[in-house]
Amino acid sequence: MRIAIAGGGLGGLTLARILHRHGIDAMVYEREASRSARSQGGSLDLHPESGQRALADAGLAGRFRSAARPEGEEHRILDPAGRTLVHHRPQPGSFTGRPEIDRSALRDLLLDSLPGDAVAWQHRLVAATPRPDGGFGLMFDGGHSADCDVLIGADGARSVVRSLLTDAALSSVATLVELSISDADRRHPDLAELVGPGNLWCIGVNQILAAQRLGDGSIRVGISLRADDRHLDTYRSKRALLDMFDGWDPSLTALIEAGDGPPTPRRIEAMPTGTRWAHQPGITLIGDAAHLMPPVGEGANQAMLDAAELAAELATNPADPDSAIQTYEEAMFTRIHPIAEMSARVQAMMLSPTAADDIIRFFTPQPAESAPAGRAAIL
Ligand SMILES: Cc1cc2nc3c(=O)[nH]c(=O)nc-3n(C[C@H](O)[C@H](O)[C@H](O)COP(=O)(O)OP(=O)(O)OC[C@H]3O[C@@H](n4cnc5c(N)ncnc54)[C@H](O)[C@@H]3O)c2cc1C
Repeated sequence: MRIAIAGGGLGGLTLARILHRHGIDAMVYEREASRSARSQGGSLDLHPESGQRALADAGLAGRFRSAARPEGEEHRILDPAGRTLVHHRPQPGSFTGRPEIDRSALRDLLLDSLPGDAVAWQHRLVAATPRPDGGFGLMFDGGHSADCDVLIGADGARSVVRSLLTDAALSSVATLVELSISDADRRHPDLAELVGPGNLWCIGVNQILAAQRLGDGSIRVGISLRADDRHLDTYRSKRALLDMFDGWDPSLTALIEAGDGPPTPRRIEAMPTGTRWAHQPGITLIGDAAHLMPPVGEGANQAMLDAAELAAELATNPADPDSAIQTYEEAMFTRIHPIAEMSARVQAMMLSPTAADDIIRFFTPQPAESAPAGRAAIL
């Protein structure tokens, strides 16, 4: 069984690693030129029941604990005047919650766990064609080609493989503008203290100014705005952003002024909740390719859990990959539906006129709960 995984992100690499542990080879085709070709972005909190469970299946729980930052779970929510609405402090040194890990550290951890030749870098899949005798012919940018018996699309938000299974369209759910502040403790001690070791969200009317501490001492700033038709260039100047936050406390807007370079805007998209497809032989999707959701703290966790569950099915039933895939797909559709609905609700709530009140309610543990129901991770 030749398994091809399109995409070497968190989902694809977790899948390759767990299959490898079961003695099943898989080839990962990744469009980037090398592991360091692109900055991997901010940090993630990995949940015990999904991301951390997948790392346990991958035999990487110990290495995760060495690389993770439990103190990064600390988060503060402020209003535009700088008043604290919520301040969550995790138990010092405790790994029982949702410790943060930088994306780059997590990706490195997965890459280091794979044989050197498991990832074919600079292989952007441009087309997959079903072969008459089963499996797929794969065509890559630049003219390379390959064959496989099973094709797994782990190629993220704009998946090429997805179009072989569903014509679900993406819709814009927000605009995210990012800035980075390097060496924050030395260069901007006030901002370092404001953000703390984890996440900060300043909630306004239809807009959020957020900041997140990374393991390298930098601060990643993210501005979330409602989706609109304005050209992305509108958001490329700090001056324009500062105008949007007119009236906010200067201690907060200092996060925009301190950005190292010009702001980088992008559209945040999602698939319709409840997306599913009719099973087809020899092909499936995991992660954002299968269920792109608004970024409220579940996407990477679910991508890794998809990988763990699909790998477990394939390892249990190696002689019948189609039945393994079908079992995975049914369970994944059922698991993801309520999570995608919750993500859409939280996203709408975060960028609403009454966001501050709604978020306080959301983050206030109910009597039976000991932790917030979810993480409103706009970063
Ligand atoms: C701003 C933001 C914040 C977020 N915060 C969180 C969070 O706190 N917690 C959380 O759980 N999730 C979070 N998410 C969601 C999370 O990033 C994704 O859900 C997760 O990365 C999905 O993993 P994946 O492996 O499916 O896709 P990706 O991580 O996107 O990986 C896809 C890979 O496929 C490669 N690729 C793409 N196309 C091709 C092609 N044609 N051929 C070959 N390779 C290809 C890409 O280069 C990439 O390496 C956030 C998302 C955003 C946008």
